[in-house]
Amino acid sequence: MIYLDHAATTPVRGEVLEAMTPYLGEEFGNPSGVHALARSARRALDDARERLGDVLGCQPGEIVFTSGGTEADNLAVTGAALGAAERRGQALLCCSGVEHPGVLEPLRHLGGVALPVDRRGVVDLDRLESLLREERERVVLVSIMTANNETGVLEPVAEVGRLVAESAPGALFHTDAVQALGWLDVAQETAPADLVAYSAHKIGGPKGVGALVVRNRARERLSPVLRGGPQERELRAGTENVAGIVGFARAAELALAERAETSLRVAELSARLLEGILEAVADARPALEEGERLGSIVNVGVPGVEAEELLLLLDQAGVAASAGAACASGALDPSPVLLAMGIPPAEARGHVRFSLGRSTTCDEVDAAVAAFAGAVDKLRAGL
Ligand code: PLP
Repeated sequence: MIYLDHAATTPVRGEVLEAMTPYLGEEFGNPSGVHALARSARRALDDARERLGDVLGCQPGEIVFTSGGTEADNLAVTGAALGAAERRGQALLCCSGVEHPGVLEPLRHLGGVALPVDRRGVVDLDRLESLLREERERVVLVSIMTANNETGVLEPVAEVGRLVAESAPGALFHTDAVQALGWLDVAQETAPADLVAYSAHKIGGPKGVGALVVRNRARERLSPVLRGGPQERELRAGTENVAGIVGFARAAELALAERAETSLRVAELSARLLEGILEAVADARPALEEGERLGSIVNVGVPGVEAEELLLLLDQAGVAASAGAACASGALDPSPVLLAMGIPPAEARGHVRFSLGRSTTCDEVDAAVAAFAGAVDKLRAGL
């Protein structure tokens, strides 16, 4: 099987599994306890927090472990609204129209505003600035992702940080960096944000573990969503997933150590994949014709072809890809991200996403191109 769906999830790395195994076995203590087993779990947790802080460019105490990227996003959005409600009543939240559902859905539920994006999927900074100026007192959260999960486009995090600081200093700036980890220098790229969401399973870590970085300056403006015990700075109650957190830290360290080499190699492979597809299928069209993007994601559409059917044929040919966000695959609706970019619904239905990873090879890319061309031919011939 040629696995080109790394943005959906990645296999757990051997080194990660090895680091986790003791905490799934004999080292089973609850880190909140006082006895030796509990203290050992606490030490593992503290150590993982420290090592992850080095990768993410934050203090260990600024990390709030969660059950994944979705929960980290929900804590940022709902936690900011709850924090503001306790402080000053009516709150306004805003985000870009291409955010992951983990941001978009809680934000919509709270009556928030989704800002327009341009043809590349980049948030309209003028609209953001005018909203921040007009609603200066009411805006409590601005959420703009670091890199998009469907197209890989990079959002202007530094500019957004500047705008929030200048025009609405009372607002929190959240960025979802789930897809950026392992590919970008997240310590630097996310530095302007008050809140940053991450997930372990996109970088060779286990599923069901993530983190929200809550900068010390932002702590008092955020309220917990999960209440109960005092864990995680009283921002996320519940016994920590010690083994998962240990695995997350190990995966993050490995991703950082290999980032320069891997991101360069994978960017070349994704360029080869796109060129191959465009050469083999004359009217295929990339979702992103220009603009900075992650080197790992290629999103391409074919007029008159349904992505679902294309994905099925690719699967039969041994190639795993997806139609945008994982939660949307299997559904016939066109991707909201592509629609927000102004791609017409009929065209958006023909888009598939290939996402490459550290294990992807040149031969796999060439085989995927051949499978793609073969599948399009079959569909067009009505076979
Ligand atoms: N944010 C982005 C950009 C993602 O790509 C994903 C995963 O698909 C998530 C959030 C959710 O992360 P998790 O699967 O850990 O809940």
